[in-house]
Amino acid sequence: MSVFSSENFRNHQQIIFCHDVDSGLKAIIAIHDTTLGPALGGCRFWNYADDDAALQDALRLSRGMTYKAAMAGLAYGGGKAVIMADPKIGKSAAIFEAFGGFVDGLGGRYITAEDVGTAPADMEIVHRATRHVAGIADGGAGDGDPSPATAWGVYHGLRATVRARFGRDDLTGLHVAVQGLGHVGQYLARDLAAAGARLTVTDLDQGRLDWAREELGAEVVAPEAIYDVAAEVFAPNALGAILNDDTITRLKVGAVAGSANNQLADDRHGAALADRGILYAPDYVINAGGIINISHEGPGYNRRAAMDHCVGIYDTLMEVFGRADREGLPTSEVADRIAEERITRAARRPAPVSLQAAE
Ligand code: NAD
Repeated sequence: MSVFSSENFRNHQQIIFCHDVDSGLKAIIAIHDTTLGPALGGCRFWNYADDDAALQDALRLSRGMTYKAAMAGLAYGGGKAVIMADPKIGKSAAIFEAFGGFVDGLGGRYITAEDVGTAPADMEIVHRATRHVAGIADGGAGDGDPSPATAWGVYHGLRATVRARFGRDDLTGLHVAVQGLGHVGQYLARDLAAAGARLTVTDLDQGRLDWAREELGAEVVAPEAIYDVAAEVFAPNALGAILNDDTITRLKVGAVAGSANNQLADDRHGAALADRGILYAPDYVINAGGIINISHEGPGYNRRAAMDHCVGIYDTLMEVFGRADREGLPTSEVADRIAEERITRAARRPAPVSLQAAE
């Protein structure tokens, strides 16, 4: 397993390999960049094929978190943790407590949260061992589930995308193809339907499809057919890497705007979308509502203020679209550039006077 020469390493600051014999915990914590603040990122619980697959996932995801926080204008850096075990049989209180101990040992340099394979209840156990955990109710200081905030941000990001691509503000009659009706997709579909959009949806879960058909008047298609739906917008809210050589040539939409992480199979697919006149709302910009909500956590948490903050994703995306248009670049590349510029600017800022004096 190569680490420093790995393609995903890309200037990570620190990688921690965690092992606890008693609980059987095997985990990797990847801290990509803390220039803007402590590294924030969820803890994934997954049955990886091998150690290298776990490391690569942690590295890829933690870098994405750095860019997400930077684009959301938050004082956080990027990190991610992966626990290597089968979420169906491998979960135990001892594992999460041991993981919390490792997080605590980092003294706040990394803040963990729920992610694929973990739930708010698991994070409550992690919280027994460390206070450096976000996304838990914590007696009213937070909001256990980030999904409503994520969906609210995606909704407003989708509005910005429609404004930029079709020059319209009203969603009435707008046709949106929605992939995935999970935690985020359900809220998003409901908000789109309430705004008058026409929905074609897909999911693997028949109950969710029945709900969308009956409650929202949505048309239902088979999972593979969603890429062929002629609509204004494709909203992916399920899997990563769904924008690839196969699907991009099939898409019959003018824009892509959805919550899924890592939507581009490869960086070059950002350009492939632009070449076909499909406006892409970069995933880590449009799906930042969850970490925006986390940035509000603490005593006096105000859910309304957090949700209002998520609406700002509209303006952030308009900035990305405007610059992409002016510079003739794919939106994905422009988002990367803006995030990198923000981090570089912060790195150049002089240290506070008291710190300089102490050196
Ligand atoms: P989820 O697991 O609750 O929902 C995913 C849904 O997609 C499920 O209903 C599942 O049945 C469906 N699905 C899976 N494979 C599918 C397929 N091949 N075709 C159609 N549907 C399929 O997840 P979620 O929390 O709603 O998150 C959705 C996406 O948004 C994920 O990519 C996640 O990483 C990303 N995201 C979520 C949040 C959040 O706050 N939950 C924040 C940022 C990004």
